[in-house]
Amino acid sequence: MTRHVEIAGGGFTGLALGTALAQAGWTARVHERTEEIRAFGAGIWIWDNGVRVLKAIGAADDALEGCTEAPTYISRDAKGRYIDEVPFAPITSTDRSRMFCITRQQLLAAILGAAQRAGVEIVTSSQATGAKPEGVLITEGGREWPADLVIGADGINSNVRDSLGLLKSRKPHVDGAIRVLVPHEPGYADTEEGRTIREWWNGYRRVLYTPCNRDVFYFCFTMLARDKEAAQIPLPRAVWSEAFPHIASMIGRVPDEGRYDRFETIKLKAWSKGRVAIVGDSAHAMSPGLGQGCGTAISNALSLANMLQESDNIERVLARWEARQRPISEHTQLWSTITWPLTLWPHWAAKLYFNMPILHPWVLKQRRKPSEFHAYGTETQVRWMPPHMRAETEAEAAA
Ligand SMILES: Cc1cc2nc3c(=O)[nH]c(=O)nc-3n(C[C@H](O)[C@H](O)[C@H](O)COP(=O)(O)OP(=O)(O)OC[C@H]3O[C@@H](n4cnc5c(N)ncnc54)[C@H](O)[C@@H]3O)c2cc1C
Repeated sequence: MTRHVEIAGGGFTGLALGTALAQAGWTARVHERTEEIRAFGAGIWIWDNGVRVLKAIGAADDALEGCTEAPTYISRDAKGRYIDEVPFAPITSTDRSRMFCITRQQLLAAILGAAQRAGVEIVTSSQATGAKPEGVLITEGGREWPADLVIGADGINSNVRDSLGLLKSRKPHVDGAIRVLVPHEPGYADTEEGRTIREWWNGYRRVLYTPCNRDVFYFCFTMLARDKEAAQIPLPRAVWSEAFPHIASMIGRVPDEGRYDRFETIKLKAWSKGRVAIVGDSAHAMSPGLGQGCGTAISNALSLANMLQESDNIERVLARWEARQRPISEHTQLWSTITWPLTLWPHWAAKLYFNMPILHPWVLKQRRKPSEFHAYGTETQVRWMPPHMRAETEAEAAA
């Protein structure tokens, strides 16, 4: 008999899960509270764990077409002194710690395309207000949507989660960030400097540069939540240019739009109650220290969809799913947090922390572990690379 899922939230997680279940023969309906499925203008890091999920649901080619291959991430202090470096495996390699950066719009459009191809029904302007453990989603006006499975993928302020009393803790961090996309100067994306992900630190303020494709790069301006002078939209370009004079010309091109978010870490008492599961940021929001919030979320979504194919006992699958996915998700939350407390540390201490003799390889391994983790059912997947690079590699091999 065909099983049915009602999903609250048309973000990366809700759409990825709806797609995977629809591809496995379920009927799936996604409720999105806004008028259309839309991502704001920023970039997003997607590591190998996320790529495996995109490949499994048929969204990888569209999501990563045209992305730039960044060799490494390097951070420096205001005097240009080195603090930290995380090398990424080359995109053509078989290492499992490759990292791809793209725009959020491209990623969401790719997953939405896969959802539509799989026949997922999408209902916009439909706000979830809660759920019942026996398998009912409730939307505004008290309308009830019964299902075999209900999903709360409705983000950090999840109504579904809160209606079931599943929240254990919600900790705001001391800092937050403004994210924007900025047009590249012609040709810059092809230079070594343009391809390298760089972060500059000055006191409690930081600027992260990430190339997304040949046209745009992503700037993430991080500051303490109490730093009201720096945390304004439109971005106060003069304030930030004064703190980072060597990149003032790039800061001068930042558009007026942008989005501020304070970082927070969310933990639940349990990831499900009855036939309702909480997936994505609603279950385990984290600081962006590792750039793994979305990768973790969609990996958990695919694992759940694949595990559900093996049994009709939904409650039992939900318990097994949490047991498998929660440890790696909490590892990722922990290492995201301890990679990012350094906001409050002097730069010399941060440098020491990242480069501790003897411990350095172990620290790097912990930071890469989420990328090496496989969603349930993707363990035997073959390698994948972006279409534009695949073509280049095939041409090289033929020559
Ligand atoms: C500064 C910053 C940088 C980040 N960088 C990265 C990165 O580089 N890589 C990475 O992997 N992750 C990153 N993340 C984390 C990533 O953005 C999240 O993990 C990801 O967006 C989670 O997706 P989601 O679908 O669970 O939640 P969301 O993206 O929040 O989507 C939730 C959806 O549900 C809808 N919704 C909300 N309430 C309701 C309701 N009541 N009813 C119906 N619909 C509802 C919303 O409109 C939205 O469409 C970053 C986060 C921050 C703050």
